Amino acid sequence: MSTDAIRDHLESPFHCGVPEAPNVCGSRRNPACGDEVTLYLRIVDGVVDEMWHQAKGCLLCKAAASILCEKTAGMNLRDVAAVSEADILEWIGVPITPRRVQCCTLAVQTLKSILTRQQA
Ligand SMILES: [Zn+2]
Repeated sequence: MSTDAIRDHLESPFHCGVPEAPNVCGSRRNPACGDEVTLYLRIVDGVVDEMWHQAKGCLLCKAAASILCEKTAGMNLRDVAAVSEADILEWIGVPITPRRVQCCTLAVQTLKSILTRQQA
């Protein structure tokens, strides 16, 4: 990833919006920046068939949500659950200052909270 990749995701976000028949959804906010991410997953046979997002807030937050949806497309649930905050920072691929890290990891945290609730 590079700044170009971030710009591409901002110009044409991957799976931005609400899909037709999501199984599960959830949202999370980052009060420090005013970011809010909502994720909608359609899970079919233990695989993330599609994940869509809606993101409000700063550009990093929006780009990270879009990148996460793209990277997790077609992944099985175990692999999706293993996606870490370090992974999204690596996928974004540009240096992030400590106070902006939360903007990038919000989408991953949202995903984790959805999956945890699924298992419960
Ligand atoms: Zn932010």
